[in-house]
Amino acid sequence: MDFRTLPDFKGHKLLTMINDEQTGLHGFVAIHNDILGPALGGTRMYLYPNDLAAITDALRLSRGMTYKAALAGLKLGGGKAVLVGDPKKNKTEAYLRVYGQYLNYFNGAFFTGEDVGITVADIEVIAKETLFVNGRSEGLHGDVKGSGDPSPVTSLGVLYGIRACLETIFGNDTISDRSVAIQGLGKVGFCLANLLYEQGARLIIADTDNRLVERALAKFQGAQVVEPHIIHCQKVDVYSPCALGAVLNDATIPELQCRIVAGAANNQLATPTHGDTLFTRGILYAPDYAINAGGLINIAGERELNGYERERTLRKVACIYDTLKNIFERSACEQVPTHSVADKMVEEILTNAEKLKNN
Ligand code: NAD
Repeated sequence: MDFRTLPDFKGHKLLTMINDEQTGLHGFVAIHNDILGPALGGTRMYLYPNDLAAITDALRLSRGMTYKAALAGLKLGGGKAVLVGDPKKNKTEAYLRVYGQYLNYFNGAFFTGEDVGITVADIEVIAKETLFVNGRSEGLHGDVKGSGDPSPVTSLGVLYGIRACLETIFGNDTISDRSVAIQGLGKVGFCLANLLYEQGARLIIADTDNRLVERALAKFQGAQVVEPHIIHCQKVDVYSPCALGAVLNDATIPELQCRIVAGAANNQLATPTHGDTLFTRGILYAPDYAINAGGLINIAGERELNGYERERTLRKVACIYDTLKNIFERSACEQVPTHSVADKMVEEILTNAEKLKNN
């Protein structure tokens, strides 16, 4: 198969397969763009049904990382690694260490960190073999100060994003008494629920994992639980997808009863045309890579010359509010859907960087 014919390959610089028979390591690294700096993107481990599904995910996610980094003002490119396997069964120490050795082949063109199926603890194992990891556990690792689990910072960024959406739709960004339907109570969703709860939001929650629902119910008094397959169609101010991608699709969009879609999940739109449909329906969509950049900003903080500083990171995360307000204003002014405005803003940044490089 000629991978260049895959629609998601467009614009990519590199797609590499990694394979180790002894440990069963098998996966792909995609680098989308490195005009702003070395590619940074997490490693996802998932039991993909086949290589094509894994490659497609890597390509879509690495492109998303280029866009996320550029819009967040980071000097980083976009890349992503996907490992084909069951994290609960196949992820041994030897497996992770061999993966670390593979990262050395990229010699600093690709840095990775945690993602679905890979934890910060796994990154520490990988780091035994390579320097090309970011998102280390908190504390000192030689000269590197670890930024820790990015998820709470991602949640904080999503909270800023939700406030920007509320301000745009209702004229004030108060969370108190606003209703929010949260899809997924994992690392980001639970933390976001906590931030919203502390500020007086009315929560409707769902997760396919009952233990996580129980944990949330014990903490968030008055939260309403619904079955996962109907969380998107609740009558709420905000629907916040914090689980899977492609949740905004032909089946779900006609059923939405919210004013705003603002959540952490990557690649929420099944296709760009679904962003157009949301716009036509008058539902304000916070482009995923704009609102969920907090974790990347946190990880990138490790790469600053004087090391990771929490306060500086949190100041940058707060800018997600203004970034989204800019997108929404431009969208209203030009009558263009928000996802297209965000894409256009990134493409302007990349084109300018390209011009500077060529001068
Ligand atoms: P996670 O795996 O900890 O949580 C996801 C949760 O969604 C799990 O609890 C899972 O049971 C639940 N879930 C799966 N299918 C569901 C369904 N159909 N309905 C309801 N719940 C369902 O992952 P996370 O780190 O919290 O990330 C959530 C999303 O945000 C992912 O798409 C991830 O790519 C994206 N994201 C995460 C970060 C981060 O810092 N962790 C940063 C940017 C983007």
